[in-house]
Amino acid sequence: MKSRTVLKLASIALIGATGVGPSFAGKLRVVATTPDLAALAREIGGAGVEVVALAKPTEDPHFVDAKPSHIVTLNRADALIEGGAELELGWLPPLMENSRNAKIAAGAPGRIVASRGVKMLEVPATFDRSKGDVHSLGNPHFMIDPVSVRVIAAEMAAHFAQVDPASAATYKANLATFNARLDVKMAEWEKQLAPFRGAKIVTYHNDFIYLAERFNLQVVATLEPKPGISPSPSHLARVIGAMKAAPARVILVQPYQNRKTAETVARQTEAVVLDIAQQPGARQNTATYFDLMDHIVATLAAAFRGQK
Ligand SMILES: [Zn+2]
Repeated sequence: MKSRTVLKLASIALIGATGVGPSFAGKLRVVATTPDLAALAREIGGAGVEVVALAKPTEDPHFVDAKPSHIVTLNRADALIEGGAELELGWLPPLMENSRNAKIAAGAPGRIVASRGVKMLEVPATFDRSKGDVHSLGNPHFMIDPVSVRVIAAEMAAHFAQVDPASAATYKANLATFNARLDVKMAEWEKQLAPFRGAKIVTYHNDFIYLAERFNLQVVATLEPKPGISPSPSHLARVIGAMKAAPARVILVQPYQNRKTAETVARQTEAVVLDIAQQPGARQNTATYFDLMDHIVATLAAAFRGQK
């Protein structure tokens, strides 16, 4: 029923949006589900690629508001990049069904699934979506791990070259430039966080474990009892206990998460609530992947420094 409504809206949108096409002329049209994937695609695609993200920077990537305009965008795409591992399970499948575009169908060269090359963390031994857990194939928030991103960037360059062989050399060169910069930046980020080895953090959703693992931080608790499940009073009481015992005095909150809940916990644990973002563009000066990572690393380092 829901997808029928989307389809009906799609026909309306397709009529209204016919003027969009020519502005993309000559460029490879790349659609990314989320802004972080889009930012990386811009690094690898360069000037010859037009990149659009479906999710807004301030939207939860698990729960994106699916719009008829998304169907139009997907219908015209030469390539689609998704996070995979069920990150977009709640909203992408009905859009794909209605987009009717063979170029981005599963298995096509134009379909890029970021999670494929990534060494996934928290992959459960048994598959269970019954309790509402939105991480039933493992944790899909790997884009803030520069090592995973290097793998995904290579995957993007390979797929872009397949879809657009005439520009293959450009994509290869862009990848090399990106990797060289990533090496330099990674050394900077490691240096900035090195003094805080073992620092304890609390997150709203379980979305910082790749960063924690890469930079030797420790996630003590999450305000959500399970990924995608709202905090309950009994769970928060356990979190407060864990934070006092650790002790952990930093709670990370993204724009689409409930800051009030974090503030309530912070008051009882002498913690600070840190406004942070994993999506480029959600906070000031975070348009590119490198700017975003600079923001995350600098925000954390400043908070840890304040508590030393
Ligand atoms: Zn998640």
